[in-house]
Amino acid sequence: MASSARPADGRLTDRYGRVATDLRVSLTDRCNLRCSYCMPPEGLPWLPSPDILTDDEVTRLIGVAVRQLGVTEVRFTGGEPLLRPGLTRIVAAAAALRPRPVLSLTTNGIGLDRLAPGLQAAGLDRVNVSLDTLDPQRFAQLAHRRRLPDVLAGLAGAAAAGLTPVKINAVLLRGVNDDEAPALLRYALSHGYELRFIEQMPLDAQQSWDRDRMVTATEILDRLRAEFTLLPDPAERGAAPAETWLVAGAERPDGSPARVGVIGTVTRPFCGDCDRTRLTADGQVRDCLFARKESDLRGALRSGADDDELAQRWRRAMAGKLAGHGIDDPTFLQPARPMSAIGG
Ligand code: SAM
Ligand code: SF4
Repeated sequence: MASSARPADGRLTDRYGRVATDLRVSLTDRCNLRCSYCMPPEGLPWLPSPDILTDDEVTRLIGVAVRQLGVTEVRFTGGEPLLRPGLTRIVAAAAALRPRPVLSLTTNGIGLDRLAPGLQAAGLDRVNVSLDTLDPQRFAQLAHRRRLPDVLAGLAGAAAAGLTPVKINAVLLRGVNDDEAPALLRYALSHGYELRFIEQMPLDAQQSWDRDRMVTATEILDRLRAEFTLLPDPAERGAAPAETWLVAGAERPDGSPARVGVIGTVTRPFCGDCDRTRLTADGQVRDCLFARKESDLRGALRSGADDDELAQRWRRAMAGKLAGHGIDDPTFLQPARPMSAIGG
């Protein structure tokens, strides 16, 4: 269907007037790392295979989102999306949609050096790679696997394949890597990557998040300012979760000013501007990372629902989105599923 056929009023609108145009698709809940803020060292009971959407089913739902619901950006995530055997095929199918969505991937980077050229050729536009430390011992402590060299190779492979701008996501944990903010920024600047820090969120399977121990956006900025001059970023923030600053005296490879970002989900919530909708690997729509309810699309899809009905179900799922995540509310309860099963 051509873009002119996209119904403006058929979009994913909620009762606060927000319109979701950015779809996060989780392709698996499995992972080859065990980041302590995400999952326990022994892993988790993975979703049963029959529950996981097939490549064709994911592709079909992305098509519904783009053609009928006005989704313009699709980000693949997980778990670790590079573990999904059909990833390149799914990317290629999404890239063939019209209007063509912007396609990106959030990954831990392991294997990306090998996979990046094929993903770029399939139509992937850019990547976010998670990197919390440059110290191999700390990496092993934090992620319970000795894979730092693979992650760094993945970053380099993504840049070489043109999956740019390559962004780095970093989570700081008190007493583990909270002194590394300036070193991570120096590394990102010297390689032409764009670094964003993410405040640790209450989404770990172990439910060990502690508001009083988390490293706040303000603290991260203070640590960066000890070594860098950060200037206000004149660029419009829009619905982007990251607040960004220009790093004085630093440039990106294309000569534009280098930036650093902080995603202060907990202390600087941006729910009022949220434009996200989420699809889990087992075909559930979530209107928020922190939602406590999901809407099943897999059942309808497997029972023969047509695209119009799937679109209608998706609209209904988004219409009831709450105004905010409520982490600071005393009644806040962590979602039943951890981040790795929701799709971060
Ligand atoms: N495995 C991929 C990766 O690590 O990039 C994709 C999935 S991961 C759930 C997506 C992002 O969520 C990563 O950048 C990760 O650091 C972040 N993340 C996971 N758990 C988090 C938490 N409790 N608080 C903040 N960020 C978290
Ligand atoms: Fe795996 Fe990503 Fe979770 Fe780390 S943050 S355990 S890489 S899913």
